[in-house]
Amino acid sequence: MSKSSDNRQNVVVVGGGGAGAPTARHLSTTLDPTKYNLIIITARPYFLHLPGSIRATVTPEGDFHEQVTMPYDKLLVNGNGTLITGEVTSMADEGEEGGYVTLANGEQIRYAVLVLVPGSHWEGPLVIPTTKPETSQWFRDWHAKFEKADDILLQ
Ligand SMILES: Cc1cc2nc3c(=O)[nH]c(=O)nc-3n(C[C@H](O)[C@H](O)[C@H](O)COP(=O)(O)OP(=O)(O)OC[C@H]3O[C@@H](n4cnc5c(N)ncnc54)[C@H](O)[C@@H]3O)c2cc1C
Repeated sequence: MSKSSDNRQNVVVVGGGGAGAPTARHLSTTLDPTKYNLIIITARPYFLHLPGSIRATVTPEGDFHEQVTMPYDKLLVNGNGTLITGEVTSMADEGEEGGYVTLANGEQIRYAVLVLVPGSHWEGPLVIPTTKPETSQWFRDWHAKFEKADDILLQ
């Protein structure tokens, strides 16, 4: 069923955003890899800096839209842990034994400890897609909308 083929316990972090990424990084430095198998599952293949995404959405100036997406290649210290790009669609809690999460592709991953940090749903320009090409196109489309707009309403 899962990525728990050895005797180590799976510590699974769902979400690689502002909370999940530093949590996973910290755990990668503190968990004993002989006892724990750290797994971070996140929907985007890159870290999205949400505060910077406001400017990245409204203007192409300074290529800010490229700078707000960052690779995860330096996230886990000393290679301690595994990063999986995927969307968790459900989870099953089996009590003290932990449980498992299921990804959109059907893969199931067991956990002994689950850290859930999936963030929030946003609206309008901040419904940023998951893949890098879609994200680049998303920012370009919004640049064009702002460029053409006569008025902009801030809510
Ligand atoms: C426009 C804007 C400006 C902001 N400015 C500031 C600021 O100036 N200062 C400040 O402190 N905070 C600011 N914030 C808030 C800050 O960005 C958030 O508090 C922070 O990002 C929350 O972190 P998070 O990890 O909870 O969620 P997120 O950063 O949203 O991360 C959630 C992660 O979970 C992943 N995910 C979601 N669902 C699933 C799933 N089902 N399966 C797998 N992965 C999933 C997402 O892909 C994402 O990577 C701002 C937010 C916005 C939108």
